[in-house]
Amino acid sequence: MAPGLSDDVKYLKGVGPSRAAGLAQRGILCVEDLLYYLPFRYEDRTRFSKIREIQPGGTYTILAEVVSGGLVRFARGRNAIYHLAVRDAGPVQPGLLHCRFFHGGYLEGKLKAGQRLVLHGKADIDPYRPVRIEMINPQMEVLSGEGAADSTEVGRIVPIYEAIGGMGSRVLRRVIYGALENLDPALPDPLPKSMLERLRLPSKRDAIVHAHFPPLEEKLDALNEFRSQAQQRLILEEFFYFQIGLALQRQRTQQEMGVAFRVREDRIREAVKRVLPFKPTAAQKRVLGEIATDMERAAPMHRLLQGDVGSGKTIVALEAATIAIENGYQAALMAPTEILAVQHFLSARRVFARAGYRVELLISGLPAAAKKAARDRVASGMAQFIVGTHAVIEEAVKFARLGLVIVDEQHRFGVMQRKQLIEKGVGREKGQPHPDLLVMTATPIPRTLSLTIYGDLDVSVIDELPPGRTPIETRITAENFLPGVWDFVRSEVARGRQAYVIYPVIEESKQELKAATAEYERLSKQVWPKLRVGLLHGRMRSEQKEDMMERFRKGEIQILVSTTVIEVGVDVPNATVMVVEHAERFGLAQLHQLRGRIGRGSEKSHCILVAPRKPTEEAKLRLDTMAETTDGFKIAEMDLELRGPGEFFGTRQHGELGFQVANPLRDKELLGLARREAFALVENPKQDDEVRRLVAHLGPKWQRRYQLARVG
Ligand code: ADP
Ligand code: MG
Repeated sequence: MAPGLSDDVKYLKGVGPSRAAGLAQRGILCVEDLLYYLPFRYEDRTRFSKIREIQPGGTYTILAEVVSGGLVRFARGRNAIYHLAVRDAGPVQPGLLHCRFFHGGYLEGKLKAGQRLVLHGKADIDPYRPVRIEMINPQMEVLSGEGAADSTEVGRIVPIYEAIGGMGSRVLRRVIYGALENLDPALPDPLPKSMLERLRLPSKRDAIVHAHFPPLEEKLDALNEFRSQAQQRLILEEFFYFQIGLALQRQRTQQEMGVAFRVREDRIREAVKRVLPFKPTAAQKRVLGEIATDMERAAPMHRLLQGDVGSGKTIVALEAATIAIENGYQAALMAPTEILAVQHFLSARRVFARAGYRVELLISGLPAAAKKAARDRVASGMAQFIVGTHAVIEEAVKFARLGLVIVDEQHRFGVMQRKQLIEKGVGREKGQPHPDLLVMTATPIPRTLSLTIYGDLDVSVIDELPPGRTPIETRITAENFLPGVWDFVRSEVARGRQAYVIYPVIEESKQELKAATAEYERLSKQVWPKLRVGLLHGRMRSEQKEDMMERFRKGEIQILVSTTVIEVGVDVPNATVMVVEHAERFGLAQLHQLRGRIGRGSEKSHCILVAPRKPTEEAKLRLDTMAETTDGFKIAEMDLELRGPGEFFGTRQHGELGFQVANPLRDKELLGLARREAFALVENPKQDDEVRRLVAHLGPKWQRRYQLARVG
C-alpha cells in the first residue's frame, strides 16, 4: 500500500528516518505537507540553449557533457576554486563553456568525462580572458545514467526545489514524483464546491500535480511568478483556511457577553473632556468615536488602534479608560516592558490627577509587600486604572470589575497569545462579562498584512500627527566625525534642550561595538565633564530605571546615554537630539521607534545616525530610508521588503505566519480574496454544515501550523 496523505513522510520511497527528521524540522511531517512544499523555480528543459548561442549577460539552461580533463582545481582547502569545461551534450557541437565554482569541493570525484549535466546560470565575460564567456557558480544538476535521462529531469518544465532535510533538488523531485504517482485519483477536495465552481479553481489533485510537474503548455514566466492556476489555487487554499480560523474566532467573540458601557451621558462626556489636556486632532476624535461606539455595544470590543509613534494613541486609550472607570469598571493597561509600564503609569497618573482616579502600578520590580498591597487594591476594586507588564498582570491577578483591557503590544504578540492573555491572563471569572479589548500598535503595518496578523480585530488608524511638530532632520555620519557631533550636542544642550545617545549593547564585548556603560564613562568624564549625563540600560533595577527616567523627564539629566530600552513609549518633549552609534546594527522598525523619542515638541529635532563609511548594501538601504522619510508606513513597507514577513513580525517561532505556499507580500490579492470568501462563508448561517465540515477537516492542521488551537 502506498502511503496516504496523512502518513508520515518516512514511508515514502527515498525518505528514510533521518531525512524525515530533517523534514520535520521544517514542519514537514506527513506526505501532504511534502506535497505542499512547492518548487521555488522552474526550468524549461524542453529545449536547451546551445553553447554557441550564449551571450554575456543572459541566463541560460544548457544540457552539457563534461569534456575529458574538464574539471581542474585551483588552490586547496577552503578557498579551492574549480574550473569546469563542458560542451553541448549529444553529437559533437562547436563551442566549449567554462564554468567557475567557488567552494566547489562537492564536485570532486563526481564529474567524469562524458557525465551529463544540466547547467543553469548567467553568462559573463571572463575578466581574465575577455574573449571568453563563462558562468560563475551556475546551478548544476548531475543527470543519472548516460543514455536517455529520467523523465523527471529533461524534456519538460522541471521543478527546482530548495534543498531541505538533507535532500537536494533532484532527490526531492524524485520523491515527490513518486508520491504523486501514487496519489489517489479521486482525491477529495476540502474547499467548498460552490467556491471551486464560482472561482473556477482547479481541483486539489490537479493543482498539486501541476504545481510540481506543470503541463507542457504552461507559461514559464507565470510559474516562476507563482501565477499559474495550480499555484494560485494552492495559495488561495492556504490563506482561506487561515482566514476561516480568524472568522470563527471573531464570530465567537461577537457572541460573548461584554459590557454595554454608557457613553452618551453628559457626565461621561464631561469626564472624557476633562482628561484631555489639549484639543484632539481630527483623527483622534474619529478614532475615539469608533472606540466609544464599540464600548457602547454589548458585544466585547476587539479593536486595534494603529498609529505612528507620537501620533497620540496613548491619550486616546486613556479616554477609553475614562469611559470604563466612569461606568464603575476597572481598566488595565499592559505594556511589553517594565520601563514602558512605568512611563505609562507616570503619564496616566498625571492625566488622571484631576479626575481623581486611583492609578496602580504592577511590575515585578516591586518589593514583595508593595506588590501584595497593590494586588489587594486591584482585587478590592480600590485601584481603578492598573498599569503593568503583561507578565505581571498575567500572574493570576484578580480584578474586582475589569471592563477594559488596553494592550500596548508593538506587535510582539500574535492572535493566539493575545487571546490567552485576555482569557486566562486577566483573571476573568466565570459569569463575568468579557472585557473590551483595545490593542495599540506603534509600527504601522501595511494593511494587507494587518489582515493576517490582526485579522480578528477591527482597525482604527490615527493618520495625522498632533499640530506644531517640526519635522525631524536625520543625518548619516561616520565615526571620525564624532567630535563634531558631540560639539553639536553640547550646543543644543546649551540652548536648553536634552539629548539621547544610543548604543546597541550594554557591556563591552568581544565585538568592536561600543558599549553603553563604557561610553557613558568616557562621555561623562572626558567629553561633557560639565554637563549632567545619565545612564540607562535594561539590566538596571527597575527603581533605578524609573528614577533615571524621572530625572531626565524633569530636566535634571541633560544627556541620557542609553540602549534600546528607551525604544518604546518614552515621552520627553524637550529632548530634541538623538545620536545613534552603530546605527547599521539596528533594524528599521527599531530605528523608527528610537527616533520617535525626539520630535515630540515644537522645537526642531535632529537625529544623527553614526555608521561605517561602507555599510553592507542592506544596512545602507536602511539608513537611507531613515534619512529620507519619517513616514512610518513607508518605513514599515521597506522593512517588510528587506526582512520578509516572518522576521518582520518576529513571530516565526510561533508558527503564526507559518504559510507553506503563500506569501502575504507577494500574494496580497489572493489574501484579500481568501478573506472575503472565508468571512462570507462563516457569516452565512445557511453554510453552517459546510463550516463544520471544514473545521473537522482542519482542526489538527490549524493547531499545528497557526496555533489557532481552539477555533470552532
Ligand atoms: P503615541 O502613544 O501614539 O506614541 P502619545 O500619546 O505618547 O503618542 O503622544 C505623543 C505626544 O503628543 C505626547 O507628548 C502627547 O501629550 C502629545 N499629544 C497627543 N495628542 C495631542 C494633541 N491632540 N495635541 C497636542 N499634543 C498631543
Ligand atoms: Mg462593549
